[in-house]
Amino acid sequence: MFAALSLHSMLGEAQNGAPSGPKADVIFVHANVYTGVPANTAFNSILREEAIAVRGDRILATGKTFDLEKYKGPQTQVVDLGGHFVMPGFNDAHLHLADGGAQRLGVDLKGVKSLDELRQRLAEKVAAAKAGEWILGGGWDETLWPVNVLPNRWDLDEVSMGRPVLLDRVDGHLAVANTRALQLASITLASRDPQGGKIDRNENGEPTGILRDTAERAVYAAIPPPTHDQLRRGIEVALADLAEHGITSAQDYSPAWENFQIYEELEKEGKLTARISAWLRFDESVEELAKKRDSHPQSDLMLHTGMLKGFMDGSLGGHTAALLQPYADDAQNSGLPRYDPAKLNDMTKERVLAGFQIGFHAIGDRGVQMALDAFAEAEKAAREAHAKGPSGDEFRLRIEHAQVTTPQEIARFKELNVIASMQPSHVLTDMRWAQDRLGPQRAATSYAWLAMLNKGVTLAFGTDYPVEPVAPFRGLYAAITRKSENGKQEYFPEQRLTIDQAIAAYTTGSAFAEFEEKEKGKLVPGMLADFVVLDRDVTASSPEKILATKVLRTVVAGKTVYEAK
Ligand SMILES: [Zn+2]
Ligand SMILES: [Zn+2]
Repeated sequence: MFAALSLHSMLGEAQNGAPSGPKADVIFVHANVYTGVPANTAFNSILREEAIAVRGDRILATGKTFDLEKYKGPQTQVVDLGGHFVMPGFNDAHLHLADGGAQRLGVDLKGVKSLDELRQRLAEKVAAAKAGEWILGGGWDETLWPVNVLPNRWDLDEVSMGRPVLLDRVDGHLAVANTRALQLASITLASRDPQGGKIDRNENGEPTGILRDTAERAVYAAIPPPTHDQLRRGIEVALADLAEHGITSAQDYSPAWENFQIYEELEKEGKLTARISAWLRFDESVEELAKKRDSHPQSDLMLHTGMLKGFMDGSLGGHTAALLQPYADDAQNSGLPRYDPAKLNDMTKERVLAGFQIGFHAIGDRGVQMALDAFAEAEKAAREAHAKGPSGDEFRLRIEHAQVTTPQEIARFKELNVIASMQPSHVLTDMRWAQDRLGPQRAATSYAWLAMLNKGVTLAFGTDYPVEPVAPFRGLYAAITRKSENGKQEYFPEQRLTIDQAIAAYTTGSAFAEFEEKEKGKLVPGMLADFVVLDRDVTASSPEKILATKVLRTVVAGKTVYEAK
């Protein structure tokens, strides 16, 4: 096919006498390329092309298939994409690679439909484990069960044969431990709740095994650290998951430094199949943070450290997100703020002045307010001090999740130029109970991605993997429908986005959120050659069909890292 076209370019070159310029390593032809560049034609709002020429890790040219013939040299590989849809690679602005890997290697409780099923999966793992070995896992969600009751330690004890067990809830902000695990963590009747956490108790004051937020830490401290090999195996599994689902860039919070060393190891071996911006812990000392930032070149576009992640609160599902008013279904409780505001403001200022980008996990409107207040003070101090940000004088401060927001808070995002890093697929999970937690009024201004866009706030989309599956198509579906996957339930449809808006948040928006909008997010000459080939045009498919999209090929830095069998 391609050879037949060579006459065109030979004539073309002969006519204009152009010297032969650089040749491509690969030319991808006969595709329907969604470039991400606004077009303003009657047919498409986004410019389409037909072919992409790649040289090294960047896009050399885009155009019609025959236009790119001139980039074909003797070594050039030509890949015919058979008319398939191509778009910029997905940039997941918020995920947890190491957790994703660990969860895949542990007891996977995603989608478990009852306590019995949880116990059955646990029992299988117990049977395969050595005596005394910790059994870890997660992904359970009691709101999917016939009886919406949290599991307790006695439920686990019956099937754990004395092995210590800790199982995370799907949101990662609550876990259930069995009796052996509580013993090893010295959590007893006499234990006090730590700041920002809660040990659930029965009527006799005995811990039930449910540990909320920071209360999980005592158990984690008792678990022997995973070996290097175990960590690496998990990360490799997670990276394969990303490649299979078209994620070419990952903004990752896996703060144990050993994970970063594994990324470096994989990079050296040529096995890093997604670009990683590795977030650091906000709570670490500025000296320690600077040391980590400087330990690997920021200019390395495959791997570098990124923003500092701090936690304002917990989760809505676990009733620990910090709210301005009490929970609609728990009148005594308005969540667990994790900082004293004065201390938070000081720490934020210190880190911004040291040139760090910061992203605060904030789910409740009180958590969001704490983050905005801290950012306002820090930005003011930075301006006065003429402090340098990660890029010029820009800091691009971010709020992660931003689920429960008041209209006033959304206006402040814009005022302070704060990025809203949101995960549309959370709505698919949360719509079953979000209104119970929030009541109708607050629920209506929550998960408010269109309100953010309408105010001119930059949106960056991600999944919070493994909290949600990493597949970006669930996110696109959620963003444009705000309906459950079976289409039966709908959550405040006024906040729906168009498919172009949703794709932008997942590509250019996420790139901006990590200061890399000049490197990626659009398929134009000079940008990194990161793109995906899909089995359908998601901009021309019904929402139900988008949900079923399959990735045919994932290309990172010009190299194919995944190809569907
Ligand atoms: Zn978070
Ligand atoms: Zn997260």
